[in-house]
Amino acid sequence: MASKGDFHTHSTASDGVLSPAALVDLAASQGVRYHALTDHDSTEGIAEARAAATKHAGYTLIPGVEMGTDIEGAEVHMLGLYLSPDDPDLQEMLMRLRAGRIDRGYGIVEKLRGMGIMIEWERVKQLAGDASVGRPHIAQALVEGGYVAKVADAFDRWIGRNGPAYVERDKMTPAESVACIVARGGLACLAHPADLDRLDALLDELAAAGMAAMEVFYKDYPPETVERLRQAAERHGLLPLGGSDYHGIFGNNEPLPGNISLPDDAIERFLERAAKLPNKDLVH
Ligand code: AMP
Ligand code: ZN
Ligand code: FE
Ligand code: FE
Repeated sequence: MASKGDFHTHSTASDGVLSPAALVDLAASQGVRYHALTDHDSTEGIAEARAAATKHAGYTLIPGVEMGTDIEGAEVHMLGLYLSPDDPDLQEMLMRLRAGRIDRGYGIVEKLRGMGIMIEWERVKQLAGDASVGRPHIAQALVEGGYVAKVADAFDRWIGRNGPAYVERDKMTPAESVACIVARGGLACLAHPADLDRLDALLDELAAAGMAAMEVFYKDYPPETVERLRQAAERHGLLPLGGSDYHGIFGNNEPLPGNISLPDDAIERFLERAAKLPNKDLVH
């Protein structure tokens, strides 16, 4: 089931457990040859990942990010691939998004404390370290505090989108994030689209905004979901792509990098398209 490609993974630069270098080593050892590092709102892990990439023959690292965006009633995640960590405009935008995460994280902790769940904001920041702060760090603090048994329970009970301690943060719309990625020379790919309502309408809008791909072979999507999404991608002229979304925080059943059903022909089509990008030479 292993694929040569994995275009969606996380490191300690956001809410993953492996350092960028350890993630690259793991992906390469799994047989992944085309690998994107896509931390939430951050390219801070790319330099370390690139240095690690040079140790592995036949392995290519694609620099990327995952941006959280909003539509009415739902969160939409957009992968930006082939983005330059050295682009000052991109960095300014990512820094703004990360600042919003800090305000939001603090707000969630305050809400929890208001409900008698006394986790410390200082501890959440410690858990995040240099990373872009995310709800998984808050979830970890809740596990440590004995308020829940595991990270997923924290989302289910408190900090999921409809949970009592959820707080919004400033986000772009998906179309804005696509425009931003394309304007910076990268390729936009809709992440984990299976649960989105009115997917066809959204895909119409995003394809028109310049989005080139969508995740079809995602993590543990079952074959019928993959088939439904593959057909949707085809209807909208989008490249079918995929990734494990590996974080290392979801327990033993979490698919490792490359443990997805992304076939070689989809990788080849993607690479052909990527070869025409303004930023095609950013790989290492
Ligand atoms: P944030 O980026 O702070 O909005 O947090 C979103 C991240 O939390 C996602 O990228 C996942 O890694 C994680 N996450 C979202 N929903 C869940 C859930 N139900 N259980 C565990 N982790 C989740
Ligand atoms: Zn994440
Ligand atoms: Fe995501
Ligand atoms: Fe992700």
